[in-house]
Amino acid sequence: MSENPQCPNCNNPEHVVLVNTTRKVGTAVGGVAGAASGYAGGSTGAATGAAIGSVVPVIGTGIGAVAGGLAGALAGFFAGASVGNKVGEHVDRHIICQYRCNSCGKEFEV
Ligand SMILES: [Zn+2]
Repeated sequence: MSENPQCPNCNNPEHVVLVNTTRKVGTAVGGVAGAASGYAGGSTGAATGAAIGSVVPVIGTGIGAVAGGLAGALAGFFAGASVGNKVGEHVDRHIICQYRCNSCGKEFEV
């Protein structure tokens, strides 16, 4: 956090934080996109689950397919959220550059 700029009010970088709106949005969007593509890519997982579940035909096949798809979606969600978080933070830090001072409450751009 040493790269934080100084607050124009307090002349002090100590309470200055990055306003990370894009990071939050990026995390959510990345998570949803990741879950969607993970679910699609999870068709391999679904097929594997279905194959394993097929030991108990019909019911097991269905449950296995759903579990495989969900596992893919879940893995995709975390992967996507992590990427979205990184991208969003980069945008906040290097493109939007908006900071807030927690000491006096002032928001400013750098
Ligand atoms: Zn301040």
